[in-house]
Amino acid sequence: MPAVREWIDKLLEWHKDQAVPVVNLGFVKLQELFPADLLEKSKVVVVTTKLPIPPLSRMGLPEFVEMENMSMEGITYKNTFFINHLHQTVSLCFHELVHVIQWERLGVDNFLLAYGASLMQFDYFDYRNSPLEQMAYSLQAGFDSGRLPTTDIVGLVQRRTDAIWNGVASLFVKA
Ligand SMILES: [Zn+2]
Repeated sequence: MPAVREWIDKLLEWHKDQAVPVVNLGFVKLQELFPADLLEKSKVVVVTTKLPIPPLSRMGLPEFVEMENMSMEGITYKNTFFINHLHQTVSLCFHELVHVIQWERLGVDNFLLAYGASLMQFDYFDYRNSPLEQMAYSLQAGFDSGRLPTTDIVGLVQRRTDAIWNGVASLFVKA
């Protein structure tokens, strides 16, 4: 885990000049839903190549090799998300902002633990099985269809994140 943490810090340092505050994208729907300070401090990096994924198999976690080769539209590290230039949609930005709130709520170590926890439940690792990912996808579906509560999305994500963390913590107790 320290290796992943270090890799993330280097990645963000490396891209800090390309990282733009999400508010600059001008997505009004995001401005209606999220507090201004969140859209100011959350950054987006648009990439034309493969999204950056930590080389987990080389870090001694061969279970993640599938994930490294998966094609993804976006990925979030702390307050910064990387999206493919072909997928610069408000919907995807919404999804990644949910992850920004999760990262902030859990902190780096607990986010990585919670994200990887599905490894302990499934033999085959698919990142979409992660409860943090399921939350982001279900809220994104609500956003797309206009069925989302219009107040306190941040609080909603935080409460659901806490519930996920409680579930993860109980896994460790059992183990
Ligand atoms: Zn996601």
